[in-house]
Amino acid sequence: MLNQNIGQGEGVYISTYGCQMNVNDTERMLSLLEMVNFVPVETPEKASLIIINSCSVREKPVHKVHSEAGKYQKMKEKNPRLRIGVGGCVAQQEKQKLLKDVPVLDFVFGTDAIDKLPEIVAQAYELQPNGYPQKVVSARFENEKPYSVETLVRNPGVSTFVNIMKGCDNFCTFCVVPFTRGRERSRTMKEILTDLNALAARGVKEVTLLGQNVNSYESDCSANFATLLKTIAEDTKIERIRYTTSHPKDFDQELVDISAKYRSKICDYIHLPAQSGNTEVLKRMNRGYSREEYLAKVKMIRDGIPGVILTTDLIVGFPGETEEQFEDTVSLIREVRYDNIYAFKYSPRPFTKAAKYEDQVPEDEKQRRLAKLLEVQREIAFELAKDYENITTDVLIEGPAREEGLYQGRTTQNKIVYFKDGTTDMIGKTMPFKITSAFPNVLRGEFAH
Ligand code: SF4
Repeated sequence: MLNQNIGQGEGVYISTYGCQMNVNDTERMLSLLEMVNFVPVETPEKASLIIINSCSVREKPVHKVHSEAGKYQKMKEKNPRLRIGVGGCVAQQEKQKLLKDVPVLDFVFGTDAIDKLPEIVAQAYELQPNGYPQKVVSARFENEKPYSVETLVRNPGVSTFVNIMKGCDNFCTFCVVPFTRGRERSRTMKEILTDLNALAARGVKEVTLLGQNVNSYESDCSANFATLLKTIAEDTKIERIRYTTSHPKDFDQELVDISAKYRSKICDYIHLPAQSGNTEVLKRMNRGYSREEYLAKVKMIRDGIPGVILTTDLIVGFPGETEEQFEDTVSLIREVRYDNIYAFKYSPRPFTKAAKYEDQVPEDEKQRRLAKLLEVQREIAFELAKDYENITTDVLIEGPAREEGLYQGRTTQNKIVYFKDGTTDMIGKTMPFKITSAFPNVLRGEFAH
């Protein structure tokens, strides 16, 4: 039986890199570690257990782990109880090698080993006969279907995240996710609904359904993603439903129709990663759609759900991308007019096909293209923001804002609204607000009586 007092009331600190999936995983890790008497702390200096929840999607991921772990070397010399581990995508990718390359580490656990974290930590606290702590690696993919995981959130507040599926089978040539998160596996609809009802009973009003490719969701009873959304809208008390990430090739008319029908619950916000605006580049990325097909999906969505907000992911400087091909990405954002873009310079990832392409774009050229794309988007975002001024819109109140003395809430389009004179009894309520000024990242408003 697992010792329920592994933590002995001492601190655990987790530093989190990367996407929303990782933020959600960190919450899960903290929930599990609290159950064995660790106490979350805000700084590594107060901790006896430090975990780096790593991401390998962006640049120099392994280097980031080495450099953060290196900073803890001195702390470890002073505190013999300190254990340091790495989870997330870099852990999954590097496994045993990470322990060899970074001697300060005690344990490495992969993306499918999170639920074993208390056991892994317990092992890491065991001393070997030579008096040194045991080093632990747990990084095997669990491939059984369905994927079963109870949502663990300590203080969900008004809005929280719920995993509905994990992994990806698409193998875009730039992306490491299929290698670090494994094959697609979905949770059963029953399990998701049970979680959502429990969260609603705890006061949650809004959920974001998470998966690397939510449109591929398929429950054990063959329900697809559109059916899942419809069932959540009809059968739970959750008031607002968001989801991320969608794959354009799998976004179909049925999903648009369900989103339109249950518009009061399914939010007017869709993140639809394009990655490039050029068909040849999209082909080399193995995205499964052309520029024209992507634009046809945008039209289908906007025709079915007028006023819906679109955001996207884009990569500049993909191997072989010419200036003309890059300009097609610039023209795509001008044509679609996204509310927001998440744009990155291409950087090679281990195991991926594109890393072996020989026609890599020089770094300074990638930088120039990124700067240009962001500048064009800035203009678009400022223009679009003006459309919000003087409108009255429903806002779900979340609580105090970062800005002193203000409260904040969110529109169905995922826009944050700051306002004065907020009170705690407003939290969790949806109220009408008149927008008095609008900027790309924040709106300001006042309660519309
Ligand atoms: S769809 Fe492509 S970019 Fe998205 S997680 Fe899968 S492989 Fe990566």
